Amino acid sequence: MLGFDLPEEIADAQKLARDFVQNELRPAEAEIDTIPDPEAAYTSDTFKSVLARSYEMGLHKLTVPESEGGLGLPPFASHVILEELAAGGAGLASHLLIAPIAHYVIQMFGLAHRHPVYKEYAEKFIEDKQGIHSGCWAITEPQVGSDIFTFGEKDIHFRTKAKHGETGEEEGEGGVTAAKEDGGYRVDGSKSAFVSNGWYADFILLMAAVDSDEDMSGTGVFLIPTDLEGISRGRPLDKLGLRALNQAEIYFDDVWVPDEMCIVPAGPMYRTLLEFIVTTGNTAVGLLGVGVARAAFEEALAHAKERSQGGRTIFDHQLVKMKLFDASRRIEASRLMLWKSAWLLTQGRPDLRLAFEARTLASEAVVHITSEMIQVFGGYGISKEYPVEKYYRDAKLLSIMDGTLDRVALSAAELM
Ligand SMILES: Cc1cc2nc3c(=O)[nH]c(=O)nc-3n(C[C@H](O)[C@H](O)[C@H](O)COP(=O)(O)OP(=O)(O)OC[C@H]3O[C@@H](n4cnc5c(N)ncnc54)[C@H](O)[C@@H]3O)c2cc1C
Repeated sequence: MLGFDLPEEIADAQKLARDFVQNELRPAEAEIDTIPDPEAAYTSDTFKSVLARSYEMGLHKLTVPESEGGLGLPPFASHVILEELAAGGAGLASHLLIAPIAHYVIQMFGLAHRHPVYKEYAEKFIEDKQGIHSGCWAITEPQVGSDIFTFGEKDIHFRTKAKHGETGEEEGEGGVTAAKEDGGYRVDGSKSAFVSNGWYADFILLMAAVDSDEDMSGTGVFLIPTDLEGISRGRPLDKLGLRALNQAEIYFDDVWVPDEMCIVPAGPMYRTLLEFIVTTGNTAVGLLGVGVARAAFEEALAHAKERSQGGRTIFDHQLVKMKLFDASRRIEASRLMLWKSAWLLTQGRPDLRLAFEARTLASEAVVHITSEMIQVFGGYGISKEYPVEKYYRDAKLLSIMDGTLDRVALSAAELM
């Protein structure tokens, strides 16, 4: 039966998240945004305590069954909560989005008994009330950005020199090579400065070229702890927006990775997994955009009803009212499309093209809306006294994260 009412347990969780966002997450994010040095930001008491509060509330384990220590919410809940978190702070929302990735993969692939490190990590993650344990996804390389979507081109892959039975030898700039040895792999290379939570994470989902004679399908997938010998990180990236989200390069210097930690060997399965991750990721990035757009819209609407010019509130000037109307309809349309994509994901029927279509709609909307909401604020809109300038900066990053708007649109068109 078709319906748009949220089930009671999801609606209750949404309300709890909304209160937390209003009272704690939004002020924390605003403060972190103003700290000029990223390293100081991610070691600040504010950063640590808002993460601790988020984990205490179980925001990192929303849909993990209660029998396994999670909150036991239905899978769709995570999508609804993500919009709420993003409406308060898209940087911290992004952190909380990526944080469960290693735990999720351990559950999805049933890895807990494959290597003692996985079992130990899964337990620590679930019990964590301080926000210490979290994962990241390292795929983009200095020379391989949008090309992660390109298959079937012999010259496009993460590295060119990995061969089974040899130790890793670095070649060229950046790039990660995993050369197979008996019982494991040696990983060499680096991932780009954009890895979300790359500076803070204690587990990495790593895509690395195993068979460099192949195209992108010569990529293998590894789930590894960051304390393996030879792994190091760059300084956290200093950037325009999403300043509460740490991002950093990850370097691999002759890192020994046992066979058990290669969770998907090179071959056709890689593309299947990548498409699943990208479907999930683009749906989530779209919802981050809906949250930011909604926050900007709500601020601008309140301001328009308060501020008077020309003898009436600016809301009563038709052109201002039309900007708000336009924002509202774009937010609603984006959310509905993204909810459909999220619903299909929860049904086990991921739809890559729909996710790309929904995400591009939402990312275009958030960039447009945040710009227009600054316009509604007039000169006050560009002042740091008001939150809309931050939404505008955050929005831009959402049009690049998990694939640039153009590249993702092209991929969607190619799927027609
Ligand atoms: C906020 C944020 C979070 C991110 N998080 C992560 C993360 O967690 N892990 C990770 O590994 N990476 C992450 N990234 C990296 C992100 O996925 C890449 O930045 C993105 O895929 C683009 O790659 P690039 O930056 O190398 O740009 P390029 O690929 O160099 O693109 C430059 C320009 O060329 C265009 N272009 C490139 N190829 C084509 C093509 N074939 N057709 C048409 N146009 C094309 C692009 O649209 C763009 O306009 C993140 C990025 C951001 C901004």
